[in-house]
Amino acid sequence: MSQARTFTYQSLPMRVVMGPGVLSQLADEIDKAGLKRVLVLCSPPQQELGETVAQMIGERAVGVHPHARMHVPLESAAAARDRAAELGADGCIAVGGGSAIGLGKAIALEHGLKIIAVPTTYAGSEMTSVWGLTEDGRKRTGKDPRVLPVSVLYDPELTLSLPATVSATSGMNAIAHAVEALYAPDASPIISLMAEEGVRSLAAALPAVVADGKDIQARAEAQYGAWLCGACLGATTMSLHHKLCHALGGTLDLPHAETHTVVLPYALAYNQPAAPDAVSALQWALGQVSDPATTLWELARRLGAPSSLRELGMEEDDISRIVEQALAQPYANPRQVTEDGLTRLLSRAWAGEPPTS
Ligand code: NAD
Repeated sequence: MSQARTFTYQSLPMRVVMGPGVLSQLADEIDKAGLKRVLVLCSPPQQELGETVAQMIGERAVGVHPHARMHVPLESAAAARDRAAELGADGCIAVGGGSAIGLGKAIALEHGLKIIAVPTTYAGSEMTSVWGLTEDGRKRTGKDPRVLPVSVLYDPELTLSLPATVSATSGMNAIAHAVEALYAPDASPIISLMAEEGVRSLAAALPAVVADGKDIQARAEAQYGAWLCGACLGATTMSLHHKLCHALGGTLDLPHAETHTVVLPYALAYNQPAAPDAVSALQWALGQVSDPATTLWELARRLGAPSSLRELGMEEDDISRIVEQALAQPYANPRQVTEDGLTRLLSRAWAGEPPTS
């Protein structure tokens, strides 16, 4: 017998409704949440979808605010909060990716409005109580139970229009949450099961999604995986991979999902020698493979995703700045994070060389 299990697990209070066509249940969900006047939030390219959603829910919608932006700039949050207050909204429907959901969270944080999320990417923000706000190029994040959506509707039909490149990188972004949940300091058996299943379903579905974005079965499977991976993110504390991506995004303004996609195999390769249980779970989830980090690196290439930090616009000279930042604040990680180790990791990720431990 292995050692007795020791863990703490707290489930988050939210409803999840999943399946093709579940958007038609949105009005019911709004009524169940006791909301009467909701503001629909989306990013500018999803304005048409936002308007359609508002029409579907009739007089429950008091407006559409199509101004969500990546990483929730403070001024964008303030404008959305003002609009919600002016309209007397008592809740928000966030339709879209992490940007729209992040904007909903910013309103909930200040005004306590309930959020119903309708995710259309695989980023996973809808499953967490983590909020983020960007001021003068610096992103602050925090955890607050008020920003957790009361209800999440996962309708894979809404993801049919997600371009192949965004599907690939957003899916790899989701896989990163599950990977780090497997070796998190607050890992627990139920979350590890969700992480394994999340990685399995996304890794299996993404090649089919990229080959044919209209394949509803593959879209449904990918979204199911994204839900599980998002739940892992919401339940655990992230380590080296997320810290590096946060530093790269915040300091160099590298694109979010693409950065996660490039860095993940390298961060995992770094941690693999110190995380044997996570490695076994990933070996199974990825199809009895020997080296999960290499398999994820190959998967990203097969999906046509960016494969180096250089390709994302990073200069080689920036490596030392990121290493310095990633070392500045201590955090839990299965393997000790050293300056040499990080420099090697980032140098390989910058050049797009195969990951090594
Ligand atoms: P996003 O919301 O900006 O969407 C990415 C792109 O996909 C955008 O161009 C958007 O217009 C497009 N898009 C979205 N849905 C589409 C659809 N159905 N069809 C066609 N195009 C569509 O970005 P994201 O990658 O979803 O999320 C990233 C953001 O979320 C970052 O700011 C990140 O920090 C945040 N995030 C937060 C958490 C959290 O727990 N707080 C978790 C994950 C991500």
